[in-house]
Parts: sequence; structure tokens; C-alpha cells
Amino acid sequence: MLINESLKEPFKPFENKVWLASPTMHGLELEYMTEAYKTNWMSTVGQNINEVETLISEKVGVKYGVALSSGTASLHMAVKLAGVKPGDKVFCSDMTFDATVNPIVYEGGIPIFIDAEYDTWNMDPIALERAFNLYPDVKVVVMAHLYGTPGKIDEIKEICKKHSAVLIEDAAESLGATYKGTQTGAFGEYGCISFNGNKIITGSSGGMLLTNDEKAANLVKKWSTQSREPAPWYQHEDLGYNYRMSNVIAGVVRGQFEYLEEHIEAKKAIYDRYKEGFKDLPISMNPYDNEICEPNYWLSCILIDEEAMCNQKRTDSVATYEPCSGKSCPTEILEAIDMLNAEGRPIWKPMHMQPLYKDNIFVSVEGKGKLLDVGGDIFNRGLCLPSDNKMTVEQQDVIIKVIKKCFG
Ligand SMILES: *Cc1c(COP(=O)(O)O)cnc(C)c1O
Repeated sequence: MLINESLKEPFKPFENKVWLASPTMHGLELEYMTEAYKTNWMSTVGQNINEVETLISEKVGVKYGVALSSGTASLHMAVKLAGVKPGDKVFCSDMTFDATVNPIVYEGGIPIFIDAEYDTWNMDPIALERAFNLYPDVKVVVMAHLYGTPGKIDEIKEICKKHSAVLIEDAAESLGATYKGTQTGAFGEYGCISFNGNKIITGSSGGMLLTNDEKAANLVKKWSTQSREPAPWYQHEDLGYNYRMSNVIAGVVRGQFEYLEEHIEAKKAIYDRYKEGFKDLPISMNPYDNEICEPNYWLSCILIDEEAMCNQKRTDSVATYEPCSGKSCPTEILEAIDMLNAEGRPIWKPMHMQPLYKDNIFVSVEGKGKLLDVGGDIFNRGLCLPSDNKMTVEQQDVIIKVIKKCFG
């Protein structure tokens, strides 16, 4: 539904769709896949898997990597390793993809959502400290690095240490990003990454659990292959899963790995061009502190200044707005992008706003005499822009122009 008709006239839709973030293949992927085929290692065992585990764990700087079928599977394994039992409360990021928190529920745990902060859009350490004061018995924290920007991981790690809590890092979106020179995924007891089709590098699907703990790595290898015990028959003592990565998928990841830095450069160029293009508009980009971290720039996002927001309403399933000169809102901009045959996306709707988790506890901090809802505010005023590596400079210029028009 197009509400603001005046956006239509001057812009012709792109002939080929510009995606939010689509796979970028280079050829090498096919060679490693073909190798798996020709040697008949068409299974969850093989050279590609071994190589991918070595390449990624060395890159991130941890001792062990276990290749799995998805990022979600790696988070599930991490939650099991952390010892979450039915009824256990677990602190986790609130503004994130639901795959960050669902694995807690798979194990019967109860997610408690920790609000985001405005500096990196990730878990707020002050809210986390507050949560530990309210629920001192909590022993596990799951934090995500959103859109490729590292969160305030030093502070979060320190708080976890103080309260003897296990830290699980959801680095699904941030492979290759660094914080004070260290890769995300290397800070927690367990790090989780994803090779889903829209991530910075992909296997079409896939994930990996990272850890320095050899016993934990071996347990995940066992659990993810149906928990077979060493015996002449199928002997089972633990509950098992079919979570191992395929050697064909691993071939794709292995080929992509060589291009990780190239992808990050392309994403950074996209981010910088948007930033430059928007410098006179009442909007800001998803922020980071360049003295502390280097994001992987997976998605470029914007946040509209409060004063520049037109009236926008969102129910559980529809969004509407009132066009207003000089002002705009995510709904209007997403419509305008869609009209160009390009793909944008709202910010991850915070977990405490999801019907699935409406009864769960949400912990935030106070500001201006009331409890804040930073995640809700960023969801309301923010959106993700087309951030595909294959978008041309000309296409991006048109997207920037259309967004300028929204504020016209
Ligand atoms: C993509 C993603 C996941 C899940 O990864 P899959 O490989 O799709 O299972 C988890 N957390 C976050 C933050 C993600 O973006």
C-alpha cells in the first residue's frame, strides 16, 4: 500500500531487485562443492568440514570450532553447554532476531530481556548489572552483536565474571568484526556464528560453535551427531541431535572464507556512502566507536531524529503513517525503497514486544524519571537499508535520493 503518492513520479524501479543482503559467490565455492562430490564425501564428514573448522577458529582466535547445520543449532548447543535447565532464568539481548533467544526455551529456560543502549544498539551493560541486582541467581547471559557492530563486550564480560555467569556470544551477524583488536565470538565461553544465506559469508545455511574448551567442543561434536557412544552398536547415554554441517555446505563456506575481508570492505563502502549521502538529513547511521571497534558493516541502518518523525502507527500486523512535509518515518521510507524494487527491513522488533514473549520480564534503565525502552524506540525510528555487496554506486545514489525525497 502506497500512502504518499508524491514519492512515485521521479523514480524508475530498478530492473533487477536490489536486495537487503544476498549471497555473493565467486566460483571457488563450486570447486570445493565439486571436490566433495567427486570424492563422494557427500555426508556430514569430510575435508571441507575440517578445513572450515580450522579456518574460522583460527580467524576468530579460539582453539576449537564445531561446524553445525545452522547458527540457531550452535546457539542451542551453547545453551546446553552452559547448563541451562528447565525453569532457569537466562539474561539475553532484547532487540535481536528471535534465534538468539529461542534456544533458551528449547532447554526449558526462561529468557529475561535486557534492553539495548544507543551507542552500539546492543545489550546495555547498565541494564545487565541492574538485572543481576534483581535476579542474582542467574548464571547465563546470551548477548548478540547486531548488524555487525560489536557490543560493549568488555563491560558485559566483567559483569558476567563478577556474577560467575557464563557468557554466550551470538556473533551470527558479526563474523570478522573486532573489538579492541579481538574478533567477536572470542570473548564468551561460547561463540556462535551463522552462514545463513544473507550473512557476511554464507554456506546457503550453516553455523559454528566456537570455544577454547576442548571438552565442550567434543561434547558438541557428539551431541550434534545423535550422541553415539564409543561401542560396537548404537549406544546412547545423552540426548542427541542431527545438527552437523554437511560437507557440501562446508565447501561453500570454505570458498567464501577467502572473500570475507573483501565482503567487509564492500559493506564498509556502502555504509560510508550512505553516511555521506545523509549528512544533511535529520537521521543518523547505526553507530559505533571507531576508537574501540571495527564492525563488519553487515547491514547499514538509519535512525530518524525524534523531531523529524511523522505520525506512524504499527499494530501487530499493519503499519500506517501520515505523510508530513519535512518529516518521515520507517514505514514511509520502506515503502519508497520497495517502490524502487529494492529491499529494506524494519529493525528487529524487540523480544519484549513479541506476543510469544509478552509475559517475560524486560529489564531496562531509568532516564528522565521513567523506565526507558531503548529497543522499542530504535524499532520505532529505525530501519535497515539495502546493503547488498552487488548494489552499484548508481543504484545506491538513487536510494539516497529517494530517502531525501521522503524528508522533502
Ligand atoms: C541469523 C541469526 C541467527 C541464526 O542463524 P541461522 O544460521 O539462521 O540459524 C541467530 N542470531 C542472529 C542475531 C542472527 O542474525
